[in-house]
Amino acid sequence: MAELSGKVVVVAGGGRGIGKAIAVKLASYGAKLVIGGRTKTEIQGVVEDIVSMGGEAISVSLDVTHQQQVDDFIETAVNAYGRIDSLVYCSGVNNRMPAEFYPEDAWTKVIDTNLTGAYRICRSVFETMKHKGGGSIVTITSMMSHVVTPNQSAYAASKAALLQYTRLLAVEWAKFNIRVNAVSPGYIETEMTADIMRNPEFRDAVIAKTPQSRFGAPEEIAEAVCFLASSKASFITGACLPVDGGFLAGHPQIIPS
Ligand code: NDP
Repeated sequence: MAELSGKVVVVAGGGRGIGKAIAVKLASYGAKLVIGGRTKTEIQGVVEDIVSMGGEAISVSLDVTHQQQVDDFIETAVNAYGRIDSLVYCSGVNNRMPAEFYPEDAWTKVIDTNLTGAYRICRSVFETMKHKGGGSIVTITSMMSHVVTPNQSAYAASKAALLQYTRLLAVEWAKFNIRVNAVSPGYIETEMTADIMRNPEFRDAVIAKTPQSRFGAPEEIAEAVCFLASSKASFITGACLPVDGGFLAGHPQIIPS
């Protein structure tokens, strides 16, 4: 995708799973990457992968629950590359348990990471994007932004709110030429879903409810993010692109054939 060549993209939560696939895919299209996350070995590992492909990347320690670290992350990116063209917000955590037992500390952590972290980093990147004359932001939402399955009350609340926040920013920041969109992954094979994959009952239920009858791969999310981050999507803002094997469209075989 030539539109991404030379662009500076920061990825929050780029050290593993979906975020890593996004960073590597962006780099394969010629973007310069700034990769943030708490696990230094992982973010540095992604930098090494990108550099070994002939790309350009740096890693910066980032905990999105701390405003100062978020501001330092953005400032380091600007100091390194002079500007930021795109931000991808991929940081996220989940904690599964029934709503009636959901402890407040777990609730706070999930909301603070998935939703408030996006608020912190979008505010932090705003001035530099505005000053440059525009930019693009892609948030990673979820099926739980649209529908719910049990035991994920904080996650569903955070991801639904993240989608509305994404739309709100799109509307408010269009006048600054900043596009803001979301990608909603279906069930993707990563560390976050490893426990589901190990549980045959849950795994089979996910596959049965997904028209394409499989989990997705992180790289399939990455392609959609690259499109929305790039100027190929120049007239798209406030949109949410599900990449879900048809999950949101409906469930197959409710009526036996
Ligand atoms: P992983 O657990 O593999 O990745 C989560 C990422 O978020 C890691 O890079 C992690 O880095 C980062 N992160 C977590 N907490 C923080 C924090 N406080 N500060 C900065 N970064 C943080 O899961 P996935 O790759 O599956 O998930 C990536 C995103 O995709 C998440 O937002 C998730 O909700 C979303 N998603 C995933 C789906 C799936 O099926 N896998 C489906 C729908 C959405 P570190 O821990 O080093 O900080």
